[in-house]
Amino acid sequence: MAEYDIVITGGRVIDPETELDAVRNVGINDGKIAVVTEKAIQGKETIDATGHVVCPGFIDMHNHNAGYPFGQKLALRDGVTTPMELELGVYPVKEWYEGLDGKSRSNYGGSVSSVAVREFILNPDLTEMFHGNFVLDMVSPEKAHTSMKWSQQPSTAEQIEQFEKMMEEGLQQGSVGVGHAVGYMVDGCSQQESAICQKLAGKYGQSTYVHSRFSSQMPPTSGLLAFFEMMAPQEIYGGGVVLQHMSAQALRDTKAALELFDAAREKGIQVIGEIYPYDYGASDILAPYLYPENYGRNMGRTYKDIIQISNLEPLTKESYEHLRETAPFTPIMFYNALEEDVVKGLEHPSSVVGSDGFVWTDRETGEIVLDWDHPCDTVNGHPRGAGTHARILAWTREKKLDIPLSLAVSKMTYMIAKYMEDNGVPQMADKGRIQEGKDADITIFDPETVQDNATMKDGGLPSTGIPYVLVNGTIVIKDSDTVDDVFPGKPIHGTGKVA
Ligand SMILES: [Zn+2]
Repeated sequence: MAEYDIVITGGRVIDPETELDAVRNVGINDGKIAVVTEKAIQGKETIDATGHVVCPGFIDMHNHNAGYPFGQKLALRDGVTTPMELELGVYPVKEWYEGLDGKSRSNYGGSVSSVAVREFILNPDLTEMFHGNFVLDMVSPEKAHTSMKWSQQPSTAEQIEQFEKMMEEGLQQGSVGVGHAVGYMVDGCSQQESAICQKLAGKYGQSTYVHSRFSSQMPPTSGLLAFFEMMAPQEIYGGGVVLQHMSAQALRDTKAALELFDAAREKGIQVIGEIYPYDYGASDILAPYLYPENYGRNMGRTYKDIIQISNLEPLTKESYEHLRETAPFTPIMFYNALEEDVVKGLEHPSSVVGSDGFVWTDRETGEIVLDWDHPCDTVNGHPRGAGTHARILAWTREKKLDIPLSLAVSKMTYMIAKYMEDNGVPQMADKGRIQEGKDADITIFDPETVQDNATMKDGGLPSTGIPYVLVNGTIVIKDSDTVDDVFPGKPIHGTGKVA
C-alpha cells in the first residue's frame, strides 16, 4: 500500500548541510519530506530518478521576475523553487504579497524597496503601479508616470524622516529585509538614507540586499568603497548585508572583496557576496555606472560594450547619448567583470549564486512579457533569468568551475537558506535541505546533460536536463515540461518584529 503521496526513487541525493551524497529514496507527504531512506518505499506517484541528482530546490535572492508567471516559468525550468525580489524590492509590500496569494507556482518573497519608497515620496505624479513590482514600472514608466526623481533627486530632512517611516512600515508588513539598490541612485540617495536602511535591518533582525553605489575598480569611487558604505553602518547597527552581483561592482577586486567578507564573518559580521555566472549584466540605459566617465575609466569599457536589448545592436557615443536623453528606461545589456574574475569569484568557498533575472520583452511588439503561456523563443532579454543555475551545474561538470558538485549545489540552496535563517527569515530553516520534516522543494537534474540554453540573442530559452521540479510537494515541472494550473507557491516573510 502506498505510504507516501510521492516517492522519488534511485536518485543521488545531495544534502549540503549533512553532507549526504548517496543514492536514497525520498518520500513526500503533505508538502514535506517524510523520509530519506535506503529502503524501498511506495507512493501514489513515483518519480524514477535513477542517474539523476535529487537536491533542494534552488533559492534565488535576486530575481526581478519573482512576482509574475513568465519569469517564474523560466526560473522553474532552471530548477528554482524560491525566486525572490530582494535587491530592487517591492512596494507596497502588503499589496505585492496579496497579489500573489494562491496564484504563484513558486515560493515568493520581497524586500521593502528603497527605490520605490523614494519615488513615492519624491514624485507626486506617480499613479498606478504594477502591484508593487517596481521593476515593471521602471521598464514601462509611461504607465505609472514613473520619473527619474527616485534616482537623481536628493531628499530634504523631512523627506528622509518620511523615508524611514515608510521603510519601517514595509518591514512591519513582513518584508524579507530591506532592498537597497543604491547603485541606481548614486547622485540622489544620501549616505544617511543608506545608513537608515541598515539601521532598520538591524532593528528588525533582517538583512539589507544591496546593489552597492559604485561599479568600479579605480579610486576614488571603487566597488570596495561602496561595500564599506553598507558595512560600516552594519558594524554600528547590526543586521546582515548581501552584496549582490558583487563581481559587477568589484570587477578586478572581486577576490579581494570576498576575502574581506570572510574576515568580517570571522568577527561575527553577517555579510556575503552573491555572483551571477555571466560577464555582462542587464539594466536600463539610465544606470549611473554606464556614464562614460565611469564606464570608461573605472570599468575599462566603452559604448560598444552596451547592447540595446530590442535590436541587439551595440551602442555608439551618439546612440548612447540620444537614448539616455530621450528614453532613459531603454533596456540594455552591458559587459562588466571579466569572465576570469566571475569564475574565480564563483569558486571562492563563501560566495553564493543569484541570477538577477531581468524582464524579457516580446521580440515583435517590444512589450514586457508577463504571461505563463508566452512562447519562450520569441523574447529578448538577458539569459541569466533563464539559465543561471543550469549554467553553474554545466560549468562545474566541464571543470570551468573547479569546485565539487555538492558545493555548487550548496551555493544555490543551503548556504542561502542558512544565511536567511540567520537573518530574520525563520521559514528558511525548512528550505535548502533534503531532510525529514523539511519542505519538499526539490529539483531533479541529470548531472551529465544539465545545460543552460539561453543566450544573449535568445534570452528566454529554458534550461534542459532538469526533468522534475517540486514546490511544497507539488510537481510543477514534469518530464521537462510545465504543469499548468497548480499554484503551490507560498510566501516567504521576514518576522515583521523588532529583534
Ligand atoms: Zn542590481
